[in-house]
Amino acid sequence: MIKIIHHRHKCIGCNSCVESAPDHWVMSKKDGKSMLKKSLQKGNYYILELPEWEYESQMEAARNCPVNIIRVNQSKKFVKA
Ligand code: SF4
Repeated sequence: MIKIIHHRHKCIGCNSCVESAPDHWVMSKKDGKSMLKKSLQKGNYYILELPEWEYESQMEAARNCPVNIIRVNQSKKFVKA
């Protein structure tokens, strides 16, 4: 499993993550920030576990984020972003 961590409150709403991985990212019509679908909120973070084969598309979303607030971890341990 991989773990996606989104530091959502720092999102600038550029839409790049949605373009990179639309299966798991969507823009919120409420506040204009992106949302990691089906994620769980833990403090300021939103976290979602996905199968290993999703790694590349999620890494593309992370690489394309201009404010660097998406982390993709392959280990089971949570590493603070
Ligand atoms: S790429 Fe980053 S800043 Fe842009 S919408 Fe996604 S999380 Fe927000």
